[in-house]
Amino acid sequence: SSATASRNELAYDLDRAHVFHSWSAQGSLKPLVIAGGQGSRVWDYDGRSYLDFSSQLVNVNIGHQHPAVTAAIIEQAGLLATVAPSTATLSRGEAARRIVERAPEGFNKVFFTNGGADAIENAIRMARLHTGRDKVLSTYRSYHGNTGAAIVATGDWRRIPNEFARGHVHFFGPWLYRSEFWATSPEQESERALRHLERVIQSEGPAGIAAVLLESIPGTAGVLVPPPGYLEGVRALCDRYDIMLILDEVMAGFGRTGTWFAFDGFDVVPDLITFAKGVNSGYVPTGGVIISDSIAHDFDTTVYPGGLTYSGHPLAMASIVAALDAMETEGIVENAARIGRDVLAPGLAELQAKHKVIGEVRGLGVFWALELVADRETRQPLSGAVMGRIKSELLARNLLPFLAENRIHVVPPCVVTDAEVAEALAIYDEVLSLDLLD
Ligand code: PLP
Repeated sequence: SSATASRNELAYDLDRAHVFHSWSAQGSLKPLVIAGGQGSRVWDYDGRSYLDFSSQLVNVNIGHQHPAVTAAIIEQAGLLATVAPSTATLSRGEAARRIVERAPEGFNKVFFTNGGADAIENAIRMARLHTGRDKVLSTYRSYHGNTGAAIVATGDWRRIPNEFARGHVHFFGPWLYRSEFWATSPEQESERALRHLERVIQSEGPAGIAAVLLESIPGTAGVLVPPPGYLEGVRALCDRYDIMLILDEVMAGFGRTGTWFAFDGFDVVPDLITFAKGVNSGYVPTGGVIISDSIAHDFDTTVYPGGLTYSGHPLAMASIVAALDAMETEGIVENAARIGRDVLAPGLAELQAKHKVIGEVRGLGVFWALELVADRETRQPLSGAVMGRIKSELLARNLLPFLAENRIHVVPPCVVTDAEVAEALAIYDEVLSLDLLD
């Protein structure tokens, strides 16, 4: 009807008039209008629906509008909509318990934040206070959030205009396809990346280094699954030089890789774990730091110099409890693992066999990237203009994609079905079959 059609226009016009968007020149934006969602689909006010293979910002792990999670938020709103972080309230304790139960042994405390970036801020602060050291080493291929230290710890282009925090040093992590180390095998890439990191540690002065901060699997940078031995080797280097290891699980954690934490797939235990996104699928903004006992004990008698008005906000906490319980009882993490292994892995390999534009396919669970190249030999990344065209062709076929640089990230909710994956694969196939390079 014209009434519903006008709500689409109203949403769009209000946005363009008054909403200032992230990471964008404001003038040329054409935001997609979204009114509702369910599971792996979202739709606008006209009822046009999209298959959400972005999970928004790779955070809606449990899918849109999970009824147990929305009901828990409504119930908590009726009981106690907000309360100071200094109080004890059941939803917060229950959420923290459920989180530490999924962490390795020796992690018993959670500091809640408003999202991922401030989780990183606090993890860095804890590592600095624990070690009495200053420097934080992180990789060029990383994203850690848009606040003081987190954006400077970030490796990608977004760091450059924001370098106002001090003590940050960057190094290259492993990625065989575009090796910085002239490596020709995963083992060689792993070994050489570790040697490079050790040289950076030695050159920066180990006695001044508080932490190595790594995404367990770098996400926004391209779903760069570390080669065998790498994370284990980083742990060994941290042990050798008394450096804290912070694993950033904000994007990779809580089911995305088919395990509760992405590092569960490796033989590594960090000192601090940051999380956000998937812990409650973003139904209410939240995040936090899971703190190992030895760091937590520092603050048994010493004041922790940090806090937030909304640390452990009851609506967020109730949504965490409901989301984790539903993920457990409905086997949602297992579904992500199965979809990755049995449906996405073979399906994406088939796409790669068919389309020369796909230089590399990598990932696991519901966390994949297609590396698009103009030429398979030179591995030259596909241009921004062509990527823009791919994005509009996917949207035109009602698939909401996640694109980053020359990559399509295939990142549906963990609840995605075989049929929905088949539908998406057919759309990727059709779009990659177009004459894209003209
Ligand atoms: N860390 C990682 C690995 C992320 O992917 C992100 C967001 O994409 C962040 C931190 C920042 O989280 P937030 O946007 O909730 O502040």
